[in-house]
Amino acid sequence: MRWVRAAPPSKLKRVGSNLVGAVASQVYSALTAGPYNLAGLTNLSVPYMSVEDANQWRIDNASHLKGVRLQFRRYTRWRDSWDHDHCAACWAKFAEFDGPDIQHEGYATCDDYRLGAYYEWICQTCFQDLKDDLQWTVAADPKSQV
Ligand SMILES: [Zn+2]
Repeated sequence: MRWVRAAPPSKLKRVGSNLVGAVASQVYSALTAGPYNLAGLTNLSVPYMSVEDANQWRIDNASHLKGVRLQFRRYTRWRDSWDHDHCAACWAKFAEFDGPDIQHEGYATCDDYRLGAYYEWICQTCFQDLKDDLQWTVAADPKSQV
């Protein structure tokens, strides 16, 4: 009987993130160590995430909004058939109705955004945490300029 050879870690790393690669190479080690060492798979260690990494997933989610102007405003629905939105970075929910963890105010795209004003939303927490990385600037409220 032959054991199926696992792909070497270097190959696995190319198909996923570094984290996937790190876990994959541990799986590979356990597989190549022999059929009786698969129990070692339960001891997979996930690399400790730094504060920077903790922000990174939100930066990745909102990377398409890098450098845009945002305006702080009360949430209003984008169109009638669309009753809520999500923070583009952390997926917090914005809505006009009340509910647990519902955001009512946040930072919205302006009319110079590719897809239009109020199309994308960023919650206040993400704005504070990510504004430097994503080079966000705050536009004045158009109503206050009248
Ligand atoms: Zn957020």
